[in-house]
Amino acid sequence: RAQRDGRSCVRFFEPEMDIHVERRIQIERELRSAITADIIEPHYQPLVSLQSNCIIGFEALARWENRTLGRIPPDVFIPIAEETGLISALGDQLFRRACSDAIAWPETFTLAFNISPIQLRDPALGQRILSILGQTGFSPRRLEIEITESAFVERTGVAKTVIDVLRQAGVRIALDDFGTGYATLSQLLSFRLDKIKIDRSFVSQLDDSTESRVIVHAILGLAKGLGLTTTAEGVEDACQLGFLVANGCTEGQGYLFSDAVPTAGIRALLNRESGSTTVAEDGTPILH
Ligand code: C2E
Ligand code: MG
Ligand code: MG
Ligand code: MG
Repeated sequence: RAQRDGRSCVRFFEPEMDIHVERRIQIERELRSAITADIIEPHYQPLVSLQSNCIIGFEALARWENRTLGRIPPDVFIPIAEETGLISALGDQLFRRACSDAIAWPETFTLAFNISPIQLRDPALGQRILSILGQTGFSPRRLEIEITESAFVERTGVAKTVIDVLRQAGVRIALDDFGTGYATLSQLLSFRLDKIKIDRSFVSQLDDSTESRVIVHAILGLAKGLGLTTTAEGVEDACQLGFLVANGCTEGQGYLFSDAVPTAGIRALLNRESGSTTVAEDGTPILH
């Protein structure tokens, strides 16, 4: 909204735009010092088996509480880290933290960790991940890397090399936010995947959209035919859970089970699980 003033000059910057720009610059400045001070930490959201109803692992989700700016969500600071070249340092730092935390979990539990497409442009990433695994003692067989479709569209050569290095070491690869990107099925199939995570936007509409039910049913059939496991993201109610179980989805994740908890909260989650489970309307036991 450019405005003309009395001398017919055009103002491109409105006051509210200045605030956005200023806040961004402020976040970027704070982000640099947060990385230096190692303040951004992973929290962990349970991945639940829809067969056994037990927790089988956790996804690490970055959390940043800033003294002056308050809580800044990863949807805000991860893109800024990507644009400013800080993602590599931040990603390595979070991964090291997550491995050190996860080493204390029961041995059957998986750690799922998000890698941005920008990180996958770095040919040395695979070796760096393996060396952090070596240093922390966390087994590559317990690690699952989550990658979005955009990583499969551009500079696929480098991404493929990194993924190959990781797969050879036993790391599993999950396709995150499936259904929201622009990759073609043939692009996706040219990468060897272990898991598809169905995006929350489909899961959240299962209750009232026939289209969403058709799409989720089709994704689950496709994954089954390809021998891939499936995780439904953002499961919030028993109705959604019922549909997913009936259609053969292997895993669920969402507020119905638990939000992401700090590392100190994991013990309580596991105790709660081994103690009482409650039963949903459709008779499915759920964690509460
Ligand atoms: P994502 O990997 O798809 O993570 C799932 C997001 O859904 C998380 O948001 C989680 O808190 C949220 N969620 C889980 N269950 C529910 C639910 O039942 N309802 C609703 N409404 N939301 C639910 P979060 O933590 O804000 O993270 C957003 C995105 O930021 C992540 O999406 C991921 O792409 C990125 N991200 C987070 N941590 C990292 C990280 O350490 N590295 C990288 N590269 N990206 C990260
Ligand atoms: Mg993820
Ligand atoms: Mg996702
Ligand atoms: Mg996402």
